[in-house]
Amino acid sequence: MSLNDYLKQATDNGWAVGHFNASELDQIRAILDACKEIGSPVMVGTSEGERKHLGLLEAVALRDAFRKKYGIPVFLNADHHKSVETAQEAIDAGYDSVHIDLSSFPMEENVIGTKMVVDYARVKNKEISVEGELGYLRGESKIHHEKIEVKPEDYTKVDQAKEFVARTGVDRLAIVIGNIHGIAPSHPRLDVQRVLDIRRALPNSVALVLHGGSGIPDGEVEEAIGVGIANVHINTELRVAYVHGLKRDLEQYPGEVAMYKLDAGAIKAMKLVVKDKLKLFGAVNKI
Ligand SMILES: [Zn+2]
Repeated sequence: MSLNDYLKQATDNGWAVGHFNASELDQIRAILDACKEIGSPVMVGTSEGERKHLGLLEAVALRDAFRKKYGIPVFLNADHHKSVETAQEAIDAGYDSVHIDLSSFPMEENVIGTKMVVDYARVKNKEISVEGELGYLRGESKIHHEKIEVKPEDYTKVDQAKEFVARTGVDRLAIVIGNIHGIAPSHPRLDVQRVLDIRRALPNSVALVLHGGSGIPDGEVEEAIGVGIANVHINTELRVAYVHGLKRDLEQYPGEVAMYKLDAGAIKAMKLVVKDKLKLFGAVNKI
């Protein structure tokens, strides 16, 4: 099954495919170990920064290696790619999916650029899944110490979502409903009604994506999935688990210099987060 097939199943049956970011081999292994154990299809994402660190061809080669070794559906996504060119590079390299994020541009430019990526992907391989984004998603994938103010005009508008999807032909739409990137001292409550309204306005073949899943209370994530979110992104919570695990082991074993021993605790912590999230998303035994 293709990624779009899994997303359609998730939309129809009220669960969500997990999307987890990684920039290291061991992090990808941690994510996929968790998925293998509980039977979840999964998206592994690399932002432009993560991709630069890991390498485009290296990311594709690792996906292929893990597919072969684990026999599970793992899909590689170019997360938040901010230009048509970088999105096309990921498609050329063999990514299964691209998220072309032109949400900082006016609607018209966003539509034109996103449509270019959709057209490019369709010619290359019909199974490539393309995500567009509408609305103003604040924050970065880190721990914020100040409150992040989300304004009503940041939210994705139902009529614009409908127009955007019709004109671009995207497979997935990232929406802003009170979510932010990163973990902040307080989070706005997710606007579940808005998810429902957008869901009703769009064809069922288009998946709704929730970015910034880190730090949102479990109950709210469940509610959002219940009304139509089919894909949830987690990055910051993984970064925190990894770095805290690493710090703990560096302190505990000051004489240790073998990296593969030092990052074992970090990987274990990451794997636990992935498992918990997949259970929360209802993604267990979905292969
Ligand atoms: Zn995101």
